[in-house]
Amino acid sequence: MLDLLRQIRWQDVLDIILVSIILYRMILIVKGTIAARMLAGVAVLLFALFIAKYMQLYTMDWLIQSFWTQVVIAVIVIFQPEIRKALAQMGESSFLQSFTSAEELKSLDEIVKTAVALANRKIGALMVIEREVSLREYVEIGTQLDAKVSKDLLLSIFHPSSPIHDGAIVIKGNRISAAGCFLPIRLGTAVSKAYGTRHRAGIAITEETDAVAVIVSEETGTISLSIDGRINTPLDMGKLRDMLTKLFTEQKKSKSASRKSRQQLKAD
Ligand code: ATP
Ligand code: MG
Repeated sequence: MLDLLRQIRWQDVLDIILVSIILYRMILIVKGTIAARMLAGVAVLLFALFIAKYMQLYTMDWLIQSFWTQVVIAVIVIFQPEIRKALAQMGESSFLQSFTSAEELKSLDEIVKTAVALANRKIGALMVIEREVSLREYVEIGTQLDAKVSKDLLLSIFHPSSPIHDGAIVIKGNRISAAGCFLPIRLGTAVSKAYGTRHRAGIAITEETDAVAVIVSEETGTISLSIDGRINTPLDMGKLRDMLTKLFTEQKKSKSASRKSRQQLKAD
């Protein structure tokens, strides 16, 4: 036993860790998709192969063996979107995506100015700002943009004649990831009946994730900010800017500080 332990090199440990990470990430990617069910099919085939070998069923073994090469090709073809996504994600370095604090503040300022301009014109809007938890699944339903946050662009997105004015936009850092995103709606009674679907969608996303949502009402022209499934309303320009700045500058310091600040904001 000790001999066996002595034979383990540090490379072996690294090897095991890397394989575990890769398998784990693969499971995360296919989890809940059709791919997961197909993987189960592949597992059945593997099991059949094992049985055939064990019981020395030569013809059966031959059949499965020849089938196997097709399966590998089929898996690549069928999983092509997943494989592409996984590779793209690997290349996506979080370092590259981080942005300077100055740019971040500028982006928040543009969001605040947009909210005020939209509120004055009574144009409805739902802007979700991503934090730690990925909003990828919602971004994927919408119209992908990956454009720099600016008041002019935001105003043209939400203009009633714009084909993507419906739904929510998702902002990550200083980029607008997507527009026209459909968010889950909360049916619970905890949300006041006065709120319609836009406000409910905004509240729900901040309850499910750590994102924050800026909501502009088309009916009343009020601006709201939802954090942690709570809604702060009505807000004026100064208050919205203060809350957002506080939220995002403290997030940088530490995660626990950000949590505290969110609780603080909720208490306000
Ligand atoms: P307002 O005060 O602006 O009227 P509201 O909370 O009363 O807002 P609705 O009047 O139902 O909500 O707003 C409808 C709009 O909200 C839709 O046109 C759409 O743009 C947006 N919306 C509704 N549901 C969702 C959703 N699930 N995800 C994203 N956006 C949504
Ligand atoms: Mg309404």
